[in-house]
Amino acid sequence: MNSNKSVSCSFCKKDKNQTEILIAGDGAHICDVCIEKAYQIVQADVSNKRKKEFNLNIKKPKEIFNHLNDYVIGQDTAKKILSVAVYNHYKRVVLAEPDDSSQDVEIEKSNIIMVGETGTGKTLLAKTIAKILDVPFCIADATVLTEAGYVGEDVESILTRLLQASDYNVEKAALGIVFIDEIDKIARKSDNPSITRDVSGEGVQQALLKLLEGTIVNVPPQGGRKHPDQKMIALDTKNILFICGGAFDGIEKRISSRLNTSTIGFKKSSYDYSKIDSVIEQISPVDLKNFGLIPELIGRLPVLTHLNKLDKSALTKILTEPKNSIINQYKKLFSIDNIELIIDKSIIEIIVNKAIELNLGARGLKSICEKILLDDMFSPSKRVKNNKLRITKSFAKSQLQEIQFSKKAA
Ligand code: ADP
Repeated sequence: MNSNKSVSCSFCKKDKNQTEILIAGDGAHICDVCIEKAYQIVQADVSNKRKKEFNLNIKKPKEIFNHLNDYVIGQDTAKKILSVAVYNHYKRVVLAEPDDSSQDVEIEKSNIIMVGETGTGKTLLAKTIAKILDVPFCIADATVLTEAGYVGEDVESILTRLLQASDYNVEKAALGIVFIDEIDKIARKSDNPSITRDVSGEGVQQALLKLLEGTIVNVPPQGGRKHPDQKMIALDTKNILFICGGAFDGIEKRISSRLNTSTIGFKKSSYDYSKIDSVIEQISPVDLKNFGLIPELIGRLPVLTHLNKLDKSALTKILTEPKNSIINQYKKLFSIDNIELIIDKSIIEIIVNKAIELNLGARGLKSICEKILLDDMFSPSKRVKNNKLRITKSFAKSQLQEIQFSKKAA
């Protein structure tokens, strides 16, 4: 008897024959139109929740900047630009509603490129940002990459590291940060007269384009080369933030000559080229192009910033001030063996002067400290008195003589 009874949507009361689809539940029915409406309500709610969560969880540029200050000395311009770029990136990720076709403004991805000498803090900045935001982070070296099919690593292998950093959680990895180091080493070799393909230079730049812009990549879970039998993990790079870094050796000269030629016909530019920092501050995308990056790649790295060369006072601060400063790290290592390490100002000065002499930026600081402290770390020294190890000037200098020697020999 019941079968003859007309069935209708329990929500809009439309009769079965007025609907395209009518789904039956336990004592109720729902039509296609009501399903659509309900879906929209759920989506709007999800989106509101995401916005609220975003406001709670994502730090504002000033907060990111202040956090960076705890770990990175100087480099204020880079910190400011990065803080804003990262904030905008996550705004774009969290607030974007891909299904909403009514959105007339689509925020584009703001991948970042940092130019600065070795040891000025490029990697440290990227790493610290990932830590602040609590997102997966990995470092990839552009020099090992080659165009698909050649000896070396495919560009997709970069993402393997990101997957590993997120314990193979694809959703987490899709919001991560990738730092591509030594991006300058894949510059186009313009003076290469050979007709062979530039598989580790321009070829890699081409291969990176899609990745940087956003595409679904099949990632080999164990990295290396792709092979047909391997099971791949699909990862969307649309919301992954790429930060590239490079020293771009000699770029100051290119900037200087650009600044000069732009004043043709008038008196020469008054830039003092001996002040490298003032020149690097003028860097613009056209200098990257002159260096050998292809315009398409530069276009996909719209946020450009520079890092200054570290001077004496910055190196001194790096050695002593950050939460996990190099000196504090050594103090901690010795304290585990119940030894109090005492390094006074005069020793810090010796270390900083040596680092400047070696021209390795802050990177040199660690190896210099290592050199001074190696013997004492190798075996408890006779120089430890009452559980205290005081480094003297003469001892530090004698330990560092060898570095001088090896530098001359090199
Ligand atoms: P880059 O990537 O520019 O070559 P890194 O970021 O790897 O240099 O720096 C190497 C090390 O030097 C870091 O781990 C850090 O200990 C120290 N360092 C470099 N720059 C800074 C800085 N501006 N502030 C604090 N520490 C720094």
